[in-house]
Amino acid sequence: MEKHSAINFKKLCDICRVESRLFDFLYSHKLLIDFTEKCEHCEIGTVHLVTDNRRPDNYIWRCDNRNCSDQHTIHKYSFFSGSKLSLEQILKIVYYWTHKYTGISHTGNKTEQSHGH
Ligand SMILES: [Zn+2]
Repeated sequence: MEKHSAINFKKLCDICRVESRLFDFLYSHKLLIDFTEKCEHCEIGTVHLVTDNRRPDNYIWRCDNRNCSDQHTIHKYSFFSGSKLSLEQILKIVYYWTHKYTGISHTGNKTEQSHGH
């Protein structure tokens, strides 16, 4: 079992640095749907997540049938549908939003002072 409660902003930045980690994180939180399945367009190929450097987030859902041009942005079938932000930007926004509503607003500074005698 993974413990997601221990996440902090530094860990979030670590996740965002490595795309595979970012996707694992998004999948595990159900923010991104794994859409690998038979293509609805041609009904022959299978839709896979592939790299595409022309995309701002470098990934796209594409059918593996060469005669089929069916493709979808990764945003289409996800929580991020309609967004033009990168996944990293959205994830950081979600992070701040979540913490706003859980009341965690400080950065973990210790306020205790020692008055050693
Ligand atoms: Zn297809």
